[in-house]
Amino acid sequence: MYRTHNNGQLRIDDVNQKVKLCGWVQKSRDLGGMTFIDLRDRYGITQLAFNETLDKNLSVKARKLNREWVIEVEGIVKERSSKNLKIDTGEIEIEVEKFTVLNESKTPPFTIEDETDGGEELRMKYRFLDLRRNPLQENLALRSEMSIEIRNFFHQNNFLEIETPYLIKSTPEGARDFVVPSRMNKQQFYALPQSPQTFKQLLMVSGYDRYFQIVKCFRDEDLRSDRQPEFTQIDCEMAFVNQQEVLETFEGLIKFLFKKILKTDFPKPFPVIAYSDAIEKYGSDKPDIRFEMELSYLENLAKGKGFKVFDEAESIVAISVPGGAEYSRKKLDELTDWVKRPQIGARGLVYVKYNEDQTFKSSIDKFYDVSNLKEWAKKCGASPGDLLLILSGKKSDVQSQMNELRLLMGSRLGLRDPKVFKPVWVVDFPLLEKDEISNSFHAMHHPFTSPKTSDLAFLETNPENVRANAYDLAINGVEVGGGSIRIHDRKIQEKMFEILGFSKEEAEAQFGFLMSAFEYGAPPHGGIAFGFDRLCALFGGKDNIREFIAFPKNNQGRDVMIEAPSEIDQTQLDELEISLPKLKG
Ligand code: ASP
Repeated sequence: MYRTHNNGQLRIDDVNQKVKLCGWVQKSRDLGGMTFIDLRDRYGITQLAFNETLDKNLSVKARKLNREWVIEVEGIVKERSSKNLKIDTGEIEIEVEKFTVLNESKTPPFTIEDETDGGEELRMKYRFLDLRRNPLQENLALRSEMSIEIRNFFHQNNFLEIETPYLIKSTPEGARDFVVPSRMNKQQFYALPQSPQTFKQLLMVSGYDRYFQIVKCFRDEDLRSDRQPEFTQIDCEMAFVNQQEVLETFEGLIKFLFKKILKTDFPKPFPVIAYSDAIEKYGSDKPDIRFEMELSYLENLAKGKGFKVFDEAESIVAISVPGGAEYSRKKLDELTDWVKRPQIGARGLVYVKYNEDQTFKSSIDKFYDVSNLKEWAKKCGASPGDLLLILSGKKSDVQSQMNELRLLMGSRLGLRDPKVFKPVWVVDFPLLEKDEISNSFHAMHHPFTSPKTSDLAFLETNPENVRANAYDLAINGVEVGGGSIRIHDRKIQEKMFEILGFSKEEAEAQFGFLMSAFEYGAPPHGGIAFGFDRLCALFGGKDNIREFIAFPKNNQGRDVMIEAPSEIDQTQLDELEISLPKLKG
């Protein structure tokens, strides 16, 4: 037997027991005749003590042990003379009688500590070492616990976990496909699923009325800290349900997870906001409702007073920042520069200080008098001491710029506590999105989403205004899930493809199987998918999903440890009958 206990296990009650432990050398200290070693595994740290007066040879050997060597030790549990109550095993140590080096280690390229000195790229290259660090071990333990509780919830609620294939045909979720060449079917390719969407719908047609899967999805798109080319969804579908029932069921899942994992209760139903209201109030379809600072519209008050910028703008949008009237000129200039960065794209920032003594100071004093500014302050719900920040321009641009500024101000004022969770359902999304350049329509969610029955009549005449039975769940400004009630009628599905610009033949070639299934007794159905990596990061109080994925990819979609993607052998290419052009440049 290698070990009788792990390194987080022994307590004062175990004193005088003979034990065997295994682990990695975290660090060692020589104090005259005593050598102390911290032995680490994923359960904790146990102090090993080597006393020169008891066994000189052993102490000499122990002094040779280096960081990250793997050892097996045997000894007696002793009460420590100087206790460390910060760790669970801090009242005891092991008086070592013998030990064996199971494996030596080179000096690691960065410190295996909670706060490491290794940069991201280096840590990714040696991910197997990075994963030894406590924060990552805690994150992966959280992830594991979450997936177990998710399965418990679904099992208790009569859902079946059913796997769907990875080698498939394009499922349109709005990204590019990753493709895989087929050796047996020359010059043909599989697409990796962007989601199991069509399969879960087919399972409904087959009568598996409650399905879920914790499943990998693959999307070839530009990466950010909260996006990976392969990521995990909690994918769900139900038959014979309306939107309300779907929302209630999956609100149940999220509440169950909060209760089990974070011991947090949400006694009330999650608030629900229509997409159009979310955009109007927050400038975002995933609003962070931990704080107010809602958008106010000043067009009616601010136009026609000679200030050209406002007069020419489609929209003039303000937020009121509590306590902001005391901001210095420097701070306001810095905010102006911030909104003008290309990522935000505003043309400028107008401010109005509503001072404590009820006077006003603004960057547009030339055009507006006190009574004007008072009206603005009233419209924005501002009190003396507050600051109005105002952007103008094309409405949809200004709304999204103001969303960013609102979030920034929320963070700066400490209103976005990661330990406070505010979920909100966003419903009634538009069915379609117009591409201004090509003048064509895209499905805002995906092409299988059903239009609202009340809006069906405008599908031909006014497609832009048709709303969908589609919903998202946002928590703290993060979209954690989204889904819809689906089309289950062949004719409506055909119409949808037609609006999206598919010819009859294209629709048949790509999705004939689904439309055919709709002709064999397809029940009404709907579902949702949650981003599991994001949900883990949210529960773990972090922004970066990579910290919750054992082996993530970097921003170029590379795994720098295994060096993927990589070239493949000529023989493999020959078998696939693929010939590659010479690389340019
Ligand atoms: N397949 C959708 C997605 O990946 C989710 C759904 O509609 O259930 O976003």
